[in-house]
Amino acid sequence: MLPRPKLRAVLMLRCPYCLKQPLLKQGSWFEFEEGCPDCGYRFEREEGYFVGAPWMISYPLLGIPGLILAIRFYPYFSQHYGMTAFGAVLALGACVLGLGLYPFARAIWLVGDHMINPLEASELHFKRKTP
Ligand SMILES: [Zn+2]
Repeated sequence: MLPRPKLRAVLMLRCPYCLKQPLLKQGSWFEFEEGCPDCGYRFEREEGYFVGAPWMISYPLLGIPGLILAIRFYPYFSQHYGMTAFGAVLALGACVLGLGLYPFARAIWLVGDHMINPLEASELHFKRKTP
């Protein structure tokens, strides 16, 4: 029986099963490793696997709090700094947070998918490292 995916893998940005393999390629914040050589499974289960991550994870995580903050602080900002400055602060904040959230959104997508649809032995076809 295969192990269950671990939720803390999201914060650690590591393989959800063994927590050994980093999800990100070394020195990159945007590129994922192909798979885990320890567990032998490919992170991207199928072509376009991570396409839903921004739509289902990033946008709600940024959009909902951003909308609440915008509604809350709009009167103050628009009165003191104007609408353009308010829009610029929102856009800049969304860009910075969106880039910072990018790998975590993919990790949440990966771990969530594996919790709902656990890995099967037939999916263990990534090249394992030889001892
Ligand atoms: Zn692993």
